Amino acid sequence: MNPLDELTLTGLRVFAHHGVFDHERRDGQPFVIDVTLHLPLAVAGATDELARTVHYGVLAEEIVAAVERDPVDLIETVAERVVDVVLAHESVVGVRVTVHKPEAPITVPFADVSVSITRWLPGRLPAAAFSAREVATLRHWDQSAVTRAVVALGANLGDREATLRTAVAELDGEPGVRVVAASPIVQTPALKLEGVDEEAPAYLNAVIAVDTVLGPRALLSVLQRVETRHGRTREVRWGDRTLDLDLLAYGSAAVLDQDLVVPHPRAHERAFVLDPWVRMDAGAVLPGHGRVADLLADVVAATGERVDEFPAAPLVPVPEALR
Ligand code: ADP
Ligand code: MG
Repeated sequence: MNPLDELTLTGLRVFAHHGVFDHERRDGQPFVIDVTLHLPLAVAGATDELARTVHYGVLAEEIVAAVERDPVDLIETVAERVVDVVLAHESVVGVRVTVHKPEAPITVPFADVSVSITRWLPGRLPAAAFSAREVATLRHWDQSAVTRAVVALGANLGDREATLRTAVAELDGEPGVRVVAASPIVQTPALKLEGVDEEAPAYLNAVIAVDTVLGPRALLSVLQRVETRHGRTREVRWGDRTLDLDLLAYGSAAVLDQDLVVPHPRAHERAFVLDPWVRMDAGAVLPGHGRVADLLADVVAATGERVDEFPAAPLVPVPEALR
């Protein structure tokens, strides 16, 4: 994960009635709150738009309102409450909250007592990354915002090679996406839900690496747009298709959503994905599963799946440095 930017608000003073003693409930006392929000701020900095960040004035009022509310026994509970308020802001990926109780009923002299908790919503990270619209506003790609993703391409209808070539060029032309490497094109028999279908037209497959400032969901939308442009329809699961684009990996991130699972849940068992991936990058690793070369050897040993070379020019002129 790229380190995220931070927004910090310290020393928020709130008078409230939390505590286990009757007098605490009755008389109340000051609580002091510090929060550090972890979120991407590059778009806000590039556009100077308040809507791209969290409005700290509003946040401060929300925190005060939450801490003032009904009394509880523990500052731990107060801290969780503050976390909820902060994470209600959708761009926030993580937060550290400290609740101080400087006048707590302690019988010996003391300076302060506090609890600090950190909570993350890593599934948020994608939502927090740039949308396609935001990318258009970026003046330059901040290297810290770039993620290397791996995409599998497959086509078994129409002019398969031309489709793959156009798709790679289209992806490279998308704002926020750069194709940095490509595998050779390979040919594989069509795999249906029932198994290998020797009657169906064979697939051409390839794998590409892209650098992107898009989050995984935004990247998936781009992939689906390109699929649709090539006449992809979705009647039959694993049916013949003009173009299939699958997001295999997005950095080392894990995404578990209804419409997006990354790393791709079936990548590790598909020779038509693993084989070209190894050809592109012999040392590739599928996050959560291990070395792609090892996975390929396992799949081939288990299924005897066939992947044939397909004589074709390289998909993209790959710069020497990346070979
Ligand atoms: P498959 O690629 O397994 O043949 P489809 O291309 O028909 O299946 O995709 C079906 C759905 O899979 C898509 O609507 C998409 O939302 C979902 N999906 C989940 N994870 C991914 C991923 N990592 N890459 C691409 N699609 C994904
Ligand atoms: Mg797909």
